[in-house]
Amino acid sequence: MTTTKPKSVEVFLQDVSFLKSTTNSDNFPPTNIPEIAIVGRSNAGKSSVLNTLCMRKQLAHTSKTPGKTQLINFFSINSNENEIARLVDLPGYGYAKVNKSTKKFWEDSLLNFLLKRRNLVGIILVTDLRHALGKLDQKLLFSLSPRMLYFHILFNKSDKLNNADRARNVRVAIESLPLEISKINRKISYSVFSSTKKKGVSELFSVLKLWIDGLD
Ligand code: GDP
Repeated sequence: MTTTKPKSVEVFLQDVSFLKSTTNSDNFPPTNIPEIAIVGRSNAGKSSVLNTLCMRKQLAHTSKTPGKTQLINFFSINSNENEIARLVDLPGYGYAKVNKSTKKFWEDSLLNFLLKRRNLVGIILVTDLRHALGKLDQKLLFSLSPRMLYFHILFNKSDKLNNADRARNVRVAIESLPLEISKINRKISYSVFSSTKKKGVSELFSVLKLWIDGLD
């Protein structure tokens, strides 16, 4: 199958459609298309980021109840009616109000997917800038570093802080990363974002463009 590359990421993100939701690996879509995963602690704003990125109000279901997104949601990025890449919205982790076995199931399916999915090219980690890169974020980053995928830390909800606190929190979060992580994986980047105010969208577009264009 031949696919036509669009002129820019902005163009292809205008045509994103829901493909399927599942946690069963037997039902995952085929691995012939590059995938970009979006992960993050529950309530960090993953669904909102996805909606903002794709300029759609309800592409990913945003909810005020943390932990509602329990499935792996696949979205097709289309160009001229061809599926050229996918965005994969993974279950949010760290949601306190679920029982241990449910939590373990989410975390196992999330980690399994990220460690084993062979067409995965990059991961966007959404984190709330007010308390960015908590233990679970760091654990995930650490577990995945040896895979050498692209990894972008997205500091969301930046509208909730003033400029000085924003800069300070970013610095503290980046400095909190164990040195081993940056040694293992030099493909880590970060940017500041606000889904509510649509801030940082073009920077995130550039990141995705690099990841997708790098696949030539
Ligand atoms: P998810 O659980 O990570 O998918 O989080 P959601 O996208 O459902 O967002 C959780 C809550 O945070 C919702 O009430 C959103 O409206 C809110 N939210 C998400 N992004 C932002 C942001 O950039 N700024 C602010 N102020 N609120 C946000």
